[in-house]
Amino acid sequence: MGELSSTSRWENWARTAAATPARVVHPRDLQELADTVAKSAADGLRVRAVGAGHSFTPAAVTDGVHLHLDQLDALERVERRADGTALVTVGAGIRLSALNGVLDALGLAMRNLGDIDQQSIAGAISTGTHGTGVRLGGLATQVVGARLVTAAGEVLETSPEQHPELFELARLGLGSVGVLAAVTLEVVPAFRLEAVEEPWALDDVLAGLDGPDGLVEGNDHFEFYWFPHTRRTLTKRNNRAVDGPGLNPVRGWIDDELLSNALFEVTNRLTTLVPRITPQLNQVAARSLSPRRYVARSSQVFASPRRVRFREMEYAVPRAALVEVLDRVDHWVRSSGEHVPFPVEVRFAAADDLWLSTAHGRETAYVAVHQYWRLPYLRYFTAVEEIVAAHAGRPHWGKLHWLEAERLGELYPRFADAQRVRAGADPDGVFDNPYLERVLGRRP
Ligand SMILES: Cc1cc2nc3c(=O)[nH]c(=O)nc-3n(C[C@H](O)[C@H](O)[C@H](O)COP(=O)(O)OP(=O)(O)OC[C@H]3O[C@@H](n4cnc5c(N)ncnc54)[C@H](O)[C@@H]3O)c2cc1C
Repeated sequence: MGELSSTSRWENWARTAAATPARVVHPRDLQELADTVAKSAADGLRVRAVGAGHSFTPAAVTDGVHLHLDQLDALERVERRADGTALVTVGAGIRLSALNGVLDALGLAMRNLGDIDQQSIAGAISTGTHGTGVRLGGLATQVVGARLVTAAGEVLETSPEQHPELFELARLGLGSVGVLAAVTLEVVPAFRLEAVEEPWALDDVLAGLDGPDGLVEGNDHFEFYWFPHTRRTLTKRNNRAVDGPGLNPVRGWIDDELLSNALFEVTNRLTTLVPRITPQLNQVAARSLSPRRYVARSSQVFASPRRVRFREMEYAVPRAALVEVLDRVDHWVRSSGEHVPFPVEVRFAAADDLWLSTAHGRETAYVAVHQYWRLPYLRYFTAVEEIVAAHAGRPHWGKLHWLEAERLGELYPRFADAQRVRAGADPDGVFDNPYLERVLGRRP
């Protein structure tokens, strides 16, 4: 069996999930991984792989065998195509920050990324991690092959041509059909982005969203952060650029480390002590934002440091429902007496056809609500969950929510197919845990 680690208590980044697994294993290669899964199943233990523990849900929790794949992080193969794109196979445990470095050295890049780079590629795709961009899908849409260790300890290559149904859940399925050992990504030539960050009034943002030159269609990657208790936002427009002024390191440190992290931690602590000052503090924070514009490598623009710990729930709604959803959230925040120091993040994605993708079959707006980790979040998040329910909102699989399989089955047209494939691939529930049982259903 693979290398055993001595400490077994595990906690996720957000401190919303913990586990004390019976065994913790760090496989050194594919054979050890396959042997570990086979032996664990034979011993009657359930198995869960864990990436960086950045899911807010207990998706990676197990009382059985916890597999850490950090040693399966190597670049395995690069197949370049005439159009400049390439197929790149990497170990599934690689962290996105390392992957970005590997790709950059090859003159390549991920087409789109989320806003941090700490996750493993396996964990990120398994929960449907996404960035923003109305013509782009989430990370799993960039996966064209996945090497899977099945419940029997067998190694299977999956892709749209090989075991296509298993591939569906291998690329986005919470690890429900096996442990990912390697993934093949379709990547693009390295590119630079011009980042334009500006404070805007919420009403101007909402009025300017649509149309061919609107904020959503008119930019490669558009997102905004709305400050609750105010009508103010920070907008981010990232577009492909050949060159331009880089980010001044001092200004970068002031914005990204001092204001977005160190000072933000202080204001969150203050609002925890004196909640009623939250609206004024949000006004001050939103007013103190100054615009900035710079050009940098795509992965540097996409990812930011996030050192203030928080809890998050994110729902995918049809894009056309966004304005009404935000209006209702604003109304709830103003009338509930709840204090919310953290901005609401809004992003966009193209419709895709992945069975369990939150953007399945519809152009999507993502509405993410956050709460500082020392503050209660239940009342706020459940109120927002109720609001998005009226618009067939689908929760991010890795972020807090309270839906169960029955409701999720109504939200995903291919849910029954996913359940069928899961049951066939893992009849004894080797890869189950309570979260999977809740969201994908208990076995008969
Ligand atoms: C600060 C912060 C910022 C975030 N930003 C974004 C964002 O911009 N966009 C977004 O969409 N999400 C975002 N997230 C959510 C995050 O991307 C997801 O929760 C992601 O799944 C975390 O990846 P991980 O490597 O930590 O996986 P984990 O949380 O460790 O695991 C996630 C799931 O993947 C499974 N898994 C892990 N490895 C394997 C494997 N080898 N084989 C099979 N299954 C496996 C686990 O069992 C679990 O079910 C953010 C989270 C945090 C804390």
